[in-house]
Amino acid sequence: MANIEELIEESAALHRHLCPRQVLGIRMGLLGGELLGLDVPQKNKRLLTVVETDGCGADGIAVATNCWVGRRTMRILDFGKVAATFIDRKTERAFRVHPNPAARKLAPEYAPDAKNHWEAYLLAYQRMPTDELLIAEPVTIAFSLEKLWSKNGKRVTCAICGEEIINEREVVQDGIILCRSCAGERYYYHADDIGNTITLPMETLLL
Ligand SMILES: [Zn+2]
Ligand SMILES: [Zn+2]
Repeated sequence: MANIEELIEESAALHRHLCPRQVLGIRMGLLGGELLGLDVPQKNKRLLTVVETDGCGADGIAVATNCWVGRRTMRILDFGKVAATFIDRKTERAFRVHPNPAARKLAPEYAPDAKNHWEAYLLAYQRMPTDELLIAEPVTIAFSLEKLWSKNGKRVTCAICGEEIINEREVVQDGIILCRSCAGERYYYHADDIGNTITLPMETLLL
């Protein structure tokens, strides 16, 4: 298991600065691995992490777990929370981890040497015992891992726009293969949509 100093260095280099939320993310990722009994940063794709916000915390989690969007081992569901669920793809065991609401208040006790609040969080989140910093609970995931993972290499073409769809994300309507955009889930307007009365469910899709 990598030590926290190395992970902090790696995360700060990637993120181009060090901030408390990255440290929090690193601690969350380490705890996720520990709870599932998986070595992190992982060398394979067994651990899947669902992160509930984008930004600094997600980078810390990625460095600690080696789960990345580009490796399909990290998914962002933007609930605006520095929280994450760590899922063992093999056993389907899962733990959701979030910061202890009391951690912010406790921070100065662990960083009496800090010059300001920000630095207190930065230092305290590295020093605080895990059970004071984080709360974890076992959860059961409510989606199919198999569907999320989908069939490797599967490719189809949308009957309307002609674009290629991978990872079984197509929609079949009346036997016709469509991409999600052409099936009505588009999150952007085309130039020729302007002036039409078309309304897209963009907000519910993205948020
Ligand atoms: Zn940051
Ligand atoms: Zn299409």
